[in-house]
Amino acid sequence: MLLCNCDTCGRLFLTKWVARCTSCSQLVLNESNKVKDFVRTHPRATIIEIYHQTGVSLQTIKELMRA
Ligand SMILES: [Zn+2]
Repeated sequence: MLLCNCDTCGRLFLTKWVARCTSCSQLVLNESNKVKDFVRTHPRATIIEIYHQTGVSLQTIKELMRA
């Protein structure tokens, strides 16, 4: 276990591999579902369109695209 700073809120937490604390992970999970749903119905959407339509931050969308 490592003591880490949450990437999102900066809170310290123990982790093996995640970059975020539990509450921020849950938030990102909700946002990733929102983005996936949008991309499923709009397969040709750009990152900017996804950003405007879902309200999810560009940084989060880019992370999801990499994943
Ligand atoms: Zn956090």
